[in-house]
Amino acid sequence: MITKIDHLGIAVRSLEESRAYYETVLGLTCEHVEEVPSQHVRTAFFSVGETHVELLEPTSPESPIAKFLEKNGEGIHHVAFATDNLPGQLRQAADAGARLIHEVPIQGAGNKLVAFLHPKSTHGVLTEFCAPADSATTH
Ligand code: ZN
Repeated sequence: MITKIDHLGIAVRSLEESRAYYETVLGLTCEHVEEVPSQHVRTAFFSVGETHVELLEPTSPESPIAKFLEKNGEGIHHVAFATDNLPGQLRQAADAGARLIHEVPIQGAGNKLVAFLHPKSTHGVLTEFCAPADSATTH
């Protein structure tokens, strides 16, 4: 079951330059910065009540974020839904006709397991499911 919107993923060219907007204009606090080697990105997380903003900066030209920036420029990259059962959520999405980018969840930022649905099967929104890495094994 989906429990909330966990975060919005926003593609940026530079974490340093863009975090000034979130900190100075919006007055949010950067919780942590983390590199995610599997996705070739550096991320910065800001708390917004129950949910988060995740800034994503590419660390290599092969990064999916580098490709996104080339095509679309900076902006909203994905919407992440927290789920209490990641494998079950993926199975349900696949059974209902969505195209999975990850059949098996991968390691994401913040000690979470994540998996994406292809935007061609989600009416244009790259969709992420995420769950704490330690909870996923119990399902
Ligand atoms: Zn994300």
